Amino acid sequence: MKNIAILGSTGSIGTQALEIVRMYPEKFNVVGLAAKSNSELLLKQIIQFKPVLASIEDINAYNSIKDDIPPYTTLICQKDGMIQIAQMEQADIMLVSVVGIAGLPAVVAGLKAKKKIALANKEALVTGGKIVSDLVKANNDIIYPVDSEHSAIFQCLQGNSNNKINNIILTASGGPFRNYKKEQLLNVTAKDALKHPTWNMGNKITIDSSTIMNKGLEVIEAKWLFDVPVEKIKPLIHPESIVHSAVEFEDGALIAQMGEPDMKLPIMYAFEYPDRIYSGAKHLDLAQKGSLTFFEPDYDKFPCLQLAFEAIKMGGNIPCALNAANEVAVDLFLNGKIGFCDIPQMIEHTIFNTDIIKNPTIDDIYETDRLVRIKVSKGG
Ligand code: MN
Repeated sequence: MKNIAILGSTGSIGTQALEIVRMYPEKFNVVGLAAKSNSELLLKQIIQFKPVLASIEDINAYNSIKDDIPPYTTLICQKDGMIQIAQMEQADIMLVSVVGIAGLPAVVAGLKAKKKIALANKEALVTGGKIVSDLVKANNDIIYPVDSEHSAIFQCLQGNSNNKINNIILTASGGPFRNYKKEQLLNVTAKDALKHPTWNMGNKITIDSSTIMNKGLEVIEAKWLFDVPVEKIKPLIHPESIVHSAVEFEDGALIAQMGEPDMKLPIMYAFEYPDRIYSGAKHLDLAQKGSLTFFEPDYDKFPCLQLAFEAIKMGGNIPCALNAANEVAVDLFLNGKIGFCDIPQMIEHTIFNTDIIKNPTIDDIYETDRLVRIKVSKGG
């Protein structure tokens, strides 16, 4: 029996993870759940999965359900609620599926408490990559990636620990504006951007996918997860989202992982690694697909991807600055305050006007994040 804690249990990944748990009651037991504000769904999850501890961040959401919580669960509403769940003694595996830099303190706490981390959050590695990697090494463990591309790369690397990686091919759907002209991008709205062609995800990540910043963040994530220089990570547009990523080795072999776009597979692989068991994900019929297509990304039309490469080359706290500027800009765009093409501009301005700290401590990271948010919010 594996005891699981889920941070971000009411989001897209969190709910799919709970579907998996429901399929295998003899394998998985939920001990902790954390949500931000969806009290109605969290209450349902508490009643169904009976965690020892649950946390909700929003005080109004907490007040709306606190009297309905059954006696077997303690519900908390504290600033460090997620950290308390990350540290709970009963948990073996911690799925981190919150969005944004909020994932960083949770991952750090989980690693310090020697938990096995299934990671769906990109921003923890983007902002605190070095700090997280050092903790993982100190634990003599690895991070089990849940992001579909990184799970694919992880799967392609199995049995290849002694083989040198030539390149990592990081596939991207290209988002809803792949075929737009550069001028057309000036007028797109949040509503247009939220129509993702292949994946069904939360709002923030769907906007990131439309600017291709999602792939930029994933380049940085891959660098830390697989310890490869970013020059060896090659984004590739693949609109069908069937090849989830690939690794090229020295002999020329290009090993790819394919499947229908369904997050249940990477979630299950992270939970059950190295075993493969039925996850409920739809199986792929290649004859029915007929053909798959691939293109080089258009760095001119989608500058966010290039900015991510710039930021990781500058190093230190700059990827954190990139991420903070992006989080604020995406929020402003979702609220109709800025245009689509303002997003890369705000990020570019930020990364070239932030004081570089070469070897940031975790407090330096939080401080960079705080300062950039203030600056970018004012600019919007
Ligand atoms: Mn992804």
